[in-house]
Amino acid sequence: SEERSLNFLEQIIEEDIANGVNDGRVLTRFPPEPNGYLHIGHAKSICLNFGLAKKYGGQTNLRFDDTNPVTEDTEYVESIKADIQWLGFQWAQELYASDYFEQIYNFAVQLIKKGLAYVDDSTPEEIAASKGTPTQIGTPTPYRSRSIEENLDLFERMKNGEFKDGEKVLRAKIETEQFEEGSPERSNMHMRDPLMYRIKHAHHHRTGDKWCIYPMYDFAHGQSDSIEGITHSICTLEFIPHRALYNWFIAQLGIFPSRQYEFARLNLTYTVMSKRKLLQLVNEKHVSGWDDPRMPTISGLRRRGFTPASIREFCERIGVQKRENVIDVSLLEFLVRDELNKTANRVMAVLDPVKLVITDYPDDKVEEMTADNNPEDPASGTRTILFSKTLYIEREDFMEEPPKKFFRLGPGLVVRLKNAYIIKGESFDKDENGNITTIYATHYPESKSGGDTSGLNVKGTIHWVSAAHAKTAEVRLYDRLFNTPDPGNEEGDFKSYINPDSLTVIPNALIEPSLVDAKPGDKLQFLRKGYFTVDPDSTAEKMVFNRTVTLKDTWAK
Ligand code: ATP
Ligand code: MG
Ligand code: MG
Repeated sequence: SEERSLNFLEQIIEEDIANGVNDGRVLTRFPPEPNGYLHIGHAKSICLNFGLAKKYGGQTNLRFDDTNPVTEDTEYVESIKADIQWLGFQWAQELYASDYFEQIYNFAVQLIKKGLAYVDDSTPEEIAASKGTPTQIGTPTPYRSRSIEENLDLFERMKNGEFKDGEKVLRAKIETEQFEEGSPERSNMHMRDPLMYRIKHAHHHRTGDKWCIYPMYDFAHGQSDSIEGITHSICTLEFIPHRALYNWFIAQLGIFPSRQYEFARLNLTYTVMSKRKLLQLVNEKHVSGWDDPRMPTISGLRRRGFTPASIREFCERIGVQKRENVIDVSLLEFLVRDELNKTANRVMAVLDPVKLVITDYPDDKVEEMTADNNPEDPASGTRTILFSKTLYIEREDFMEEPPKKFFRLGPGLVVRLKNAYIIKGESFDKDENGNITTIYATHYPESKSGGDTSGLNVKGTIHWVSAAHAKTAEVRLYDRLFNTPDPGNEEGDFKSYINPDSLTVIPNALIEPSLVDAKPGDKLQFLRKGYFTVDPDSTAEKMVFNRTVTLKDTWAK
């Protein structure tokens, strides 16, 4: 990552530093609206804002963009803070746009006094009509010619609660004629006397019932940036048309000139990222909650077993673009698999157990076998696992009539039991439905792992657990939540593209007893089965494991 070329934001910042802009100071902000949980798209913005500040010796503020009282909630504030810290970032200051309400109100009064804002009583339809079209300047509403005194009086009365929701708004007064014919400002609809304030008699999660007027995004975001002295205000591409207005307000108020820069939002395959849609999935119970392991939320990814490092690396690898694109989720899966290969201890768990009896092994004997915790990490050491006459293996590892090149178990076939003996399949029992209930095998006593003198050469190795020692666990296997790469842009309701098989619950898998000490969030490789993490639903009686990813990319099958 050190060698890659500078992205366009780094270029801008390096130029600013070289030119002594703001004395070379870099202060960014991450501005979530506390109306939902953070998702992987937010992680990109977090990595970018905190990453740029860190790289250039600056800092990052966490600012809650809480100017819309109706949808916001303290629960979201807490989850957002926890998720940012989990990702590995620490903000300089925790701030709230709502803390600036008084100051933003005063900014509005200042613009009214300059004749640059007015109270409009028109309906939303009349206001829309007054804006005209990009090529046709609209006709002002009759309220546009109100006097400064009248506007000051009405705006104060708006604040004092004398009017009902929607009865009046405060609008900026911007002379479109001043912009040159053909200039972007002239055709920019965001510059056509945009709304600055609306009346909303609603309880706010921080300011309570103090305010009944709330500033619009365009009259809150840039003002908040400026109040904090943010140098580089980084947002997503859809705010490009807002930039002229962002700059206009700052210029008219004569306040600190924060600058806005735009990058392409992260889009990921097989999921949706809009908070509105994620909220629907939660409310309509398509998932168990915001932290369901199938969700693209930070809390869902964490519960699924993704690591902060893999998410940060993902954000670094995808880079920063100026054009919309869609990233394949398998890149994220590849990165976590790569990390867990190096860090996760190997254990044995049998997900679909069938009994295996070693007929020539003593009935009551229990043998201690030594197993490497992680062959990729010599420092991880070894552990002891118990071997006995009756074991469980995966049902799919035995075939009654194995084809050629089936290097697992079958009548007459030899295979190694991982960390234990080479065995030879002998016979099996079946129930009335034809399902195999017990497999019988014999073992080669000289073939014990670590001291094999048998001279046998076998092609396959299978995993197992000892029947008397294994514990029962619930294992949850996940697949993609949607069965189409871009569900948000398909025809009809995005929820009709939900993959009905996105969750498979195995209620009675068998795990080796060493796992009973594992804690929620611990990460393991179940040999041959994938990477798993301990779910917080685990209890002393029954552990629950989530599969993070398979060992190999099996999606493109
Ligand atoms: P939504 O449209 O789903 O409500 P939002 O963009 O309004 O999402 P915010 O809480 O306002 O959500 O986002 C906080 C910050 O994260 C903003 O600066 C926003 O640009 C950025 N962000 C949100 N989604 C993405 C994404 N998919 N990729 C990159 N940045 C994002
Ligand atoms: Mg939003
Ligand atoms: Mg937003």
